[in-house]
Amino acid sequence: MAVPLMDIAAEYRSIKDEIDEALLEFLGSGKYVLGPYVERFEEEFAEYLGVAYCVGVSSGTDALLISLRVLGVGEGDEVITTPFTFVASADVIVRLGARPVFVDVEPDTLNINADAVKGAVANETAAILPVHLYGMPCDLARLGEIAAETGVSIVEDAAQAAGSKYAGRLVGTFGKVGCFSFFPTKNLGAYGDGGIIATDSAELAEEARALRVHGAKRKNYPGVIGYKARLDAMQAAVLSVKLKYLNRWVSRKRELVNAYRERLAGVAGVTLPAEPEGREPAYHQFTVRAERRDELKESLQYRDIGCAVYYPIPVHLTEAFGFLGYRPGDFPEAEKAAAEVVSLPLFSQMTDGQLDTVCSAVEEFYVG
Ligand SMILES: *Cc1c(COP(=O)(O)O)cnc(C)c1O
Repeated sequence: MAVPLMDIAAEYRSIKDEIDEALLEFLGSGKYVLGPYVERFEEEFAEYLGVAYCVGVSSGTDALLISLRVLGVGEGDEVITTPFTFVASADVIVRLGARPVFVDVEPDTLNINADAVKGAVANETAAILPVHLYGMPCDLARLGEIAAETGVSIVEDAAQAAGSKYAGRLVGTFGKVGCFSFFPTKNLGAYGDGGIIATDSAELAEEARALRVHGAKRKNYPGVIGYKARLDAMQAAVLSVKLKYLNRWVSRKRELVNAYRERLAGVAGVTLPAEPEGREPAYHQFTVRAERRDELKESLQYRDIGCAVYYPIPVHLTEAFGFLGYRPGDFPEAEKAAAEVVSLPLFSQMTDGQLDTVCSAVEEFYVG
């Protein structure tokens, strides 16, 4: 039996009638840009998170870019972030003329090491950008203390973590600003690109709303040079339907991860992801460390079992970021993780039988 890494079309099929109806209603409305669909979804997502404001934007990347910009990040500034992430977390910093300052990750959560963050804070530090990788919440208590001690704002990259909780509270609500992506494969996925900025600050929300439409608070009166980065109204119509299912889908994925844990606990060669006390990840990926990782990957692929490496090269060692002057060995934990991680199939419609197929293949690879 073939098992895909993810099956987002299966998710669509599970709510097809409702989605189709919402899309047909949208098409008949004529309200295709911003307007009622975007406003409704912004309100719903703000209520879901428990924040005062949400600003829908065109992607998670633009959510990060605009968030940093409203916090005043620019030329000569530094932003502290993790090298073990999707490139978007760091490239937005460079696009604003600021410098990403990487610090290493914790070996158990693969998230930014808060003590290292503390050590990296300097006069130039304009923001701290932690990433809840694979949906695993960062050490938000410690990061919050550092932000309070230093006065530096936190922008949470919660692109992979819609529905994840830290100490019982949804992530993306701890920093000055939280950024989410609705890329189709994310926990809450649209049928195209989308993203959102969450904040309790009326002022930051207003600035972000202007930046997504050419920097204009009033139409045709641009106050600053902005972007064209609105959440698409059709995606908002889809997201309003899908948000109702997010908690259910997160629970199902957590159930599947528990089943993985039971099955793979005894397999030498596989190290399961930690789930520290107080953190309740909405697993975007189920990512293990694997001995002979590349061979395992080939063996799974040979059996038509989807798997993928996120991310094979830590950002500081990519060609694009070469100009920063980092060298192999600078962040040993991130580099070790990049060499060892592999994500196994996980999606809300995955069946117990599919999970069994994956586990048997992994067992067979290591145990024979
Ligand atoms: C997906 C992702 C982004 C970017 O979101 P897009 O919607 O694809 O632009 C940023 N950071 C992380 C960690 C992501 O996984």
